[in-house]
Amino acid sequence: MLEKTPTTRVQAFLDRFGKALETGKTDEAASMFAEEGFWRDLVAFTWNIRTMEGRGEVRDMLNAQLKSVKPIGWKVAEGEEAAEADGVTEAWITFETQVARGYGHIRLKDGLIWTLLTTMAEQKGHEEKAGFTRPLGAKHGHGKDRKTWKEERDDEVAELGVSRQPYCLIIGGGQGGIALGARLGQLGVPTIIVEKNERAGDSWRKRYKSLCLHDPVWYDHLPYIDFPKNWPVFAPKDKIGDWLEMYTKVMELNYWPSTTAKKASYDEKAGEWTVVVERAGKEITLKPKQLVLATGMSGKPNLPKFRGQDVFKGEQQHSSAHPGPERYRGKKVVVVGSNNSAHDICAALWEGGADVTMVQRSSTHIVRSATLMDIGLGALYSEQAVANGVTTRKADLIFASLPYRILHEFQIPLYEQMRERDKDFYDALEKAGFMHDWGDDGSGLFMKYLRRGSGYYIDVGACDLVIDGSIKLKSGVGVKELKEHSVVLSDGTELPADLIVYATGYGSMNGWAADLISQEVADKVGKVWGLGSATTKDPGPWEGEQRNMWKPTQAENLWFHGGNLHQSRHYSQYLALQLKARMEGIPTPVYGLQQVHHKA
Ligand SMILES: Cc1cc2nc3c(=O)[nH]c(=O)nc-3n(C[C@H](O)[C@H](O)[C@H](O)COP(=O)(O)OP(=O)(O)OC[C@H]3O[C@@H](n4cnc5c(N)ncnc54)[C@H](O)[C@@H]3O)c2cc1C
Repeated sequence: MLEKTPTTRVQAFLDRFGKALETGKTDEAASMFAEEGFWRDLVAFTWNIRTMEGRGEVRDMLNAQLKSVKPIGWKVAEGEEAAEADGVTEAWITFETQVARGYGHIRLKDGLIWTLLTTMAEQKGHEEKAGFTRPLGAKHGHGKDRKTWKEERDDEVAELGVSRQPYCLIIGGGQGGIALGARLGQLGVPTIIVEKNERAGDSWRKRYKSLCLHDPVWYDHLPYIDFPKNWPVFAPKDKIGDWLEMYTKVMELNYWPSTTAKKASYDEKAGEWTVVVERAGKEITLKPKQLVLATGMSGKPNLPKFRGQDVFKGEQQHSSAHPGPERYRGKKVVVVGSNNSAHDICAALWEGGADVTMVQRSSTHIVRSATLMDIGLGALYSEQAVANGVTTRKADLIFASLPYRILHEFQIPLYEQMRERDKDFYDALEKAGFMHDWGDDGSGLFMKYLRRGSGYYIDVGACDLVIDGSIKLKSGVGVKELKEHSVVLSDGTELPADLIVYATGYGSMNGWAADLISQEVADKVGKVWGLGSATTKDPGPWEGEQRNMWKPTQAENLWFHGGNLHQSRHYSQYLALQLKARMEGIPTPVYGLQQVHHKA
């Protein structure tokens, strides 16, 4: 008899689960989940990004999808062993559907599924040409007028968008558009990326001078090409810009710089978009089937309106347009806002010899970078994690395996540890008058990011300047009005100013759809981002997944892509597979298309 190891136990469970699915016994399969179990599916079962919560939702999904998905072959992944700790058994798993191979992760508690993650890894017959099937490159043998790799590539560049239409058009060539373009390229989906800047990477280069990535290198890799081992932990913005430019070239993306998308409309009958772009001053009409807005979640500036903005004689800029401190030595600057950009900009201005005041209207979550790296990210994204065998792919999937409904429960204890470790720091910050919070439920930075994409600063030094008064602080007040040479605050304080920087964040990405397509389509799609957590700036009802990101929207063949480097890398895979399937005519019955509850 086989020795009962965690791996054999998980395999026996998977055999039962697989049998229930193969024989269409959806009640039985659902009953193998804990009452409060979760099934998070990235495309494999739902052709959507969707979390089923509890047995009822699992059963409903299976009743709708099982006949077309036809899953088989549930196995503990080759080369992996299940692990047991604290009453939870977990394992990496593989399975197949009618059209795809899947990879996933399972956690069993008391013999029932607590969490199940299923992801589509590749489509059968449409695998990426990699490893054993990588392209040869060279053409051995001989033939008259044979074309070289470069000539073939030149032909593609000359034809696509001119005599041959792309299947997919990505508007926005920042890291999001670039990562997705690379994935689509490897899947053979003819794609053009249009970018209004002159060079790939400019969206980073054009940001304020002092900016370095706030996330560490292990979290930031792009698909296919990792950063080298000597890459700095926090890459300076221009270095990321150059990396993106290099990447775009070596991954042979059809990247049109200096090209602005002007307008887009969708012909439902033809199932085709008409997109007018201006490329180096010339209008071109493109006719893709799929349109992806990768125009940046931090791209559409929120500019507040104040009385007197027209009478103010100094300069006013949104943080995204702030050039850096050089021009402002000896000047008086008021920075409106107290999140990441506000802190970075205030610190750089102070270093550059300006007299800076930060205006903080509401509280901000602060976490110190080193503490965040150790406690928040270390287990998954760090040199130690790499040494422990946690590859980027595994780290991404472990992260993805934690359902959003309970993610905050995993986060809260981490932030309690951080609070403890940096107690003196927080005390000093409060003493300086800074309003600080830990998120509505104490779950800290990452939940704030997922829920509202704002409301925090990862401290890389600016807080010390607030604490010692080098950066002046006015907190608990807003801006009342501007005068010719000053900013008047709601408590009546008048701050002399030569420059006002509005570090007031960014609007919902469906604003891009309003600009490019129509307000009607933007409203149809609804708010982009957020989980529906009913916390500040993330109104309910509960969605369970990020609104409208990387998945079908209420507007046919219109997609949104973006997020931080980790999300861009990870979710571009699933968006690319959804687009590829549509191109190949593979049926893609979407389960649980997101309903719209908020317009913006
Ligand atoms: C100050 C700051 C610091 C950040 N730090 C980090 C960090 O440390 N780590 C991290 O992972 N993320 C960070 N982010 C968040 C996020 O990763 C970045 O905003 C990132 O640039 C997003 O990439 P993206 O491709 O989605 O959007 P963007 O980089 O904004 O790219 C969108 C592109 O779309 C183009 N575009 C817009 N409209 C059109 C049009 N009509 N036609 C053609 N092109 C158009 C723009 O020119 C732009 O290049 C930060 C963001 C900000 C603002």
